[in-house]
Amino acid sequence: MSLILKQISPRCLWFRRLCAAILAGFVLVGAGLPVQASGLEVRDIRIGIHDGATRFVVDLSDKVEPRVFGLPDPFRVVIDLPEVNFLLPEERIGDGAGLIEKLRYGLFRPGTSRFVLDLKTPAKISKQFLLRPDGGKPWRLVLDIVPTSRDDFIVAMRPSAATAPRVASQPPPPPLSRPPNEKPVVVIDAGHGGVDPGAIGVSGVYEKKIALDYSREVAKRLRDTGLYEVVMTRDRDIFLPLRERVRIARAAGADLFLSIHANTHPKRSTNGFSVYTLSNNASDKEAAALAALENKSDVIGGVDLGDYSDDVQNILIDFAQAKTNELSVKFARGNLVGEIGQRARLLGRPWRSAGFAVLKAPDVPSVLLELGYISNPAEERLLLSPAHREKMSAAIVRAVGNYFAETQNARL
Ligand SMILES: [Zn+2]
Repeated sequence: MSLILKQISPRCLWFRRLCAAILAGFVLVGAGLPVQASGLEVRDIRIGIHDGATRFVVDLSDKVEPRVFGLPDPFRVVIDLPEVNFLLPEERIGDGAGLIEKLRYGLFRPGTSRFVLDLKTPAKISKQFLLRPDGGKPWRLVLDIVPTSRDDFIVAMRPSAATAPRVASQPPPPPLSRPPNEKPVVVIDAGHGGVDPGAIGVSGVYEKKIALDYSREVAKRLRDTGLYEVVMTRDRDIFLPLRERVRIARAAGADLFLSIHANTHPKRSTNGFSVYTLSNNASDKEAAALAALENKSDVIGGVDLGDYSDDVQNILIDFAQAKTNELSVKFARGNLVGEIGQRARLLGRPWRSAGFAVLKAPDVPSVLLELGYISNPAEERLLLSPAHREKMSAAIVRAVGNYFAETQNARL
């Protein structure tokens, strides 16, 4: 191990590279997680160059048996560990070094924490070993990564039966026509989470955190009315594939699905709230680009899209969906934009549409909210303020109330 440390001195190449890319000033999300049953801690990570290989080192509180595999298009290395607490000085998501373009980590699903390393070229693991605690150093997981061809990557890095990502068994989807719920069921979907941070704000705040904070506030306020049954797709910092979010909404028999996000724009001055519904043809170029970005969540989380690429890539609205879509548009345009517009700034043309995979439930009116732009310093500050969160959440709850009051006889 001393070799690698010598190689990347002085003051460690990895540290400078990572720190240059790491966005500071963010309170560690992991600190808010419940204590993990495994008690395992990740205490530090490093990237260095060692004998022509890119070396990725993870400091751990105990030994682990990682599951390491690759996913192509784009080329990624996925490292699954038991559920761990990430006790890193700050969230070390950012640019990598050597063959690693970028890295991120987080809870992938209950019981599994994940690193995803985006590769610059196809590459494979040439060495993988675990070092025992030694000379004050903790347990260390070491992976050496070397370039290879695409064909070799596919063979060498293919998940084996033991390492293949588990696909949760899916209950059959509920029938399209069903008896009305006793109370309207509203599903609140906090965008991103776990290994997928979503967009990153100017101060380094993650979209996944803002999405969860607002989702919790909206869910609480909806529950407090006593009028709805409220289901959250996630209520902690965990990754959820897009298909799973849609499945939860359908399994709950949702009457309305709100996916909550925050946006970024290359132009810092861009700000304001916007809401999106599903369409085959995007309303404009920006909405299309946004949908493409949001649909990449599964790639970012390290899910193999081979399993269900049709779900994500083919957005075709059938007849049942067209009826549902009318209600989605009614809520977005007729209820939400008006309520938010009285209390917060709207983006120009605040209702737009595009092919968002998370809005695809054929029988659930679904909208995706972009609360505002965390690339705009003033709006990022606003979105982080409790007063603004309460104001926006109250407006969303009023819009939900108006929607159900106006559509109660038009239940699908
Ligand atoms: Zn998002």
